[in-house]
Amino acid sequence: MAEGHAVHGMAARVRRLVDQPGRSQGPVTEQFDPRALDGRAVAGAEAHGKHLLIHLHGTDLSPHLHLGMHGAVSVRQHRRALGPDDLPRTDPPDPAGLAWRHLTATHLLEVTRPTVCELLDADGRAALHARLGPDPLRDDADPAEAIARLHASRRAIGALLVDQSVVSGIGNVYRAELLWRAGLDPHTPGNALDPDTLRALWDDAFDLMTIGLGAGWIVAHPTQLADARALLARGEAVPRWPKRYAVYLRRGEPCPRCGTPVASERLGLQTMYWCPGCQQQPA
Ligand SMILES: [Zn+2]
Repeated sequence: MAEGHAVHGMAARVRRLVDQPGRSQGPVTEQFDPRALDGRAVAGAEAHGKHLLIHLHGTDLSPHLHLGMHGAVSVRQHRRALGPDDLPRTDPPDPAGLAWRHLTATHLLEVTRPTVCELLDADGRAALHARLGPDPLRDDADPAEAIARLHASRRAIGALLVDQSVVSGIGNVYRAELLWRAGLDPHTPGNALDPDTLRALWDDAFDLMTIGLGAGWIVAHPTQLADARALLARGEAVPRWPKRYAVYLRRGEPCPRCGTPVASERLGLQTMYWCPGCQQQPA
């Protein structure tokens, strides 16, 4: 499943279509009617956690997308540029699972196999934002709010970090790597962690996810992080190096910090990975 940095990356790609009127197509469902968007131009796009909202000029209705396990948003530039007001005469063939297509003079936006594809008005958008916790990658995120929510709960920090109503955008990979980096046992209750520790966890999430957004993939290994940070600081692209994690998907392999075999456990729908040797509950 796409974690929050990937959805913020999608929002940035959708913004390439800004101000270009487009032809909107796709199957009409009870929740989504592309005809309501036909001829309109994208005004902006935003991510909140794993949710993507696209705003269009001239309508209060915003497509709201959640991609789940198999959904995708693709934005492609046409090989041949057309005039600013010329839409391609023919439509491309429908990809499998097409939910929405927006075709402009320069770009083709296609959404396939989402778990949610609906149109939200202002009230719907407000309700969506209200049920999602602060997202480290959003400019309007309030770290104090996230820390208060984490600190108020007796649930395990490993469960709280991926609960999108507590903080949003963190998924299974970031959860595992963030807790390993902090040296925290994922079973520690949220209310057993002091606000400074929670603030450090939030700041590390912001840092890692910012690099993930810039790189386009989850960079978590210390050496790769340093290299990615240097490349991004110079405005260069981060190559797709082989993915290396400290604990994620490494059950039974030695922890890079202390050598203890990495443990795993089913938690909700996902498997949680951690090192029982050096990830501790605070005294
Ligand atoms: Zn360890």
